[in-house]
Amino acid sequence: MRDWLAHRASATPEATAVRVAGEPARSYRALDERVEELAGRLSAFGVGVGTHLGVCLPTRPTFVELVHAAMRLGAVLVPLNARSTARELVDRAAAADCALLCCGSATEDTALTAARLAEAEGNDLPVATVDEPREGARPVRETAPDTFDVPEWAPTRRLCLLFTSGTTGEPKAVDLRMGNVLTSAAGSAFRLGLLPEDRWFDPLSMAHMGGLAPVYRSVCYGTAVALPGPDAGGEADEGAGYAVGGFDPGATLAAMQATGATCVSLVPAMLSGLLDAGALPDSLRFVLLGGAPATDDLLERCFERDVPVAPTYGMTETASQIATARPAEARDHVGTVGNPLFTTTVTVVSEGRTVDPGERGELVVSGPVVTPGYYRDEDATERAFGPHGFHTGDLGYRDEAGRVWVLDRLDDRLNPGGETVDPSEVVDALRAFPGVADAAVVGLPDESLGERVAALVVPDGTLDPSALERHCRERLAGFKLPRSVGLADELPRTGSGTVDREAVRERLRGPGADRVVSF
Ligand code: ATP
Ligand code: MG
Repeated sequence: MRDWLAHRASATPEATAVRVAGEPARSYRALDERVEELAGRLSAFGVGVGTHLGVCLPTRPTFVELVHAAMRLGAVLVPLNARSTARELVDRAAAADCALLCCGSATEDTALTAARLAEAEGNDLPVATVDEPREGARPVRETAPDTFDVPEWAPTRRLCLLFTSGTTGEPKAVDLRMGNVLTSAAGSAFRLGLLPEDRWFDPLSMAHMGGLAPVYRSVCYGTAVALPGPDAGGEADEGAGYAVGGFDPGATLAAMQATGATCVSLVPAMLSGLLDAGALPDSLRFVLLGGAPATDDLLERCFERDVPVAPTYGMTETASQIATARPAEARDHVGTVGNPLFTTTVTVVSEGRTVDPGERGELVVSGPVVTPGYYRDEDATERAFGPHGFHTGDLGYRDEAGRVWVLDRLDDRLNPGGETVDPSEVVDALRAFPGVADAAVVGLPDESLGERVAALVVPDGTLDPSALERHCRERLAGFKLPRSVGLADELPRTGSGTVDREAVRERLRGPGADRVVSF
């Protein structure tokens, strides 16, 4: 097999590969032809086997073409968030050893600024643009295609370097091999089923595993990936439109309807926005919901409206899904992410030992979906792997039926005055108060306690802080009580929808801190 797309183009050339709201559908044959041409042009830019190719583009068909062109050339795809700053692009491109940065009209200015920044620092970051170029960027389209050799695909071949979301620190570049991604595609299909007419709607940034996975999966399955049109938040300055920023729920719903989506990947903040905006299409057979914890409230809203929600737990290091609950199971066991997928093992480890069902510990994952490690970061790789596999840094447990329940991140646990506080318990107490729409709980340095519990609360209508204090004192032990409570219009989130804890800390300490009350 030359590569996955070549296989599809010969096996099911007429099947739809890409569907975009308001645009004609593209068949596998048409996609293959475009990719062949694009690969030739990229080859003329020096991209070949093993080249690290940075791609900074919104979630549009060109991104899909670049994903396949990189595979055809044997290059390593390095997706970079379209909302990155120039500084971030320089740093990520350097961390992943990118030889070339591909951008488009929406990201060209930032990419060119990044190139100048790199040059001023004595480094070279060539930029190529796949759209109409401006001065300084070299147009891919105007380059004559070169001939190139197509390497055989192999499970151990490095397919992409994908950055984690950076919830707990600087994003890390995860080394993903073809075998990781292919096994993940199989495991997902074995759990959720597969129909030839499936159309997997993908409104997520392809710089994250959740957004990239449907592109690789669709070509493995021979089904279509469906994308929002530019008006759904894809092409705007805001870029690749994960939940925050450039995401337009109304336009996204319309695009899902227009493309006849049968599956969709969403993060909780996005699903919540879609439910506010209207009805999800009846054509959906599942809504894969993951990337961050889903509240019971959000799940209940789905059940009431017959939205076939499939809560899932996954991460970059495991090429996406680890465990997924089918819609019926999600309803019967609210809050679980279901059993691990085929070939993936989840062990719960506490103090170096595996624990019994029902007992909490760190979720440790093993199996062919797990990355061999972080790119050029042996220390981080060594820290992450133990005798049971990859340490997720997430706290959870498995019940008697083997279902996985994710509770929190281990790193997030607080330690005020020597006591352990699980921030999710404090968040639940705050959310249970009528005037609170959402809340995040973090630790702040404290002279006497070492660390104090602090909360950022999103009020819903009028909120009486003294009544909130009474409520918290009734529900929480004294050491768990948030000592500082700040108010915000929304919680700061990372690109994949998790609460950005560092930004929460900044808000509680920074200029907005005048809205912070102390208990
Ligand atoms: P970093 O590793 O840089 O700190 P990150 O862990 O947020 O960032 P990702 O790989 O995008 O980067 O996200 C994976 C994490 O998202 C998981 O480790 C887990 O904490 C969280 N997550 C994913 N799905 C769920 C879920 N269903 N419930 C709770 N948390 C989830
Ligand atoms: Mg992580």
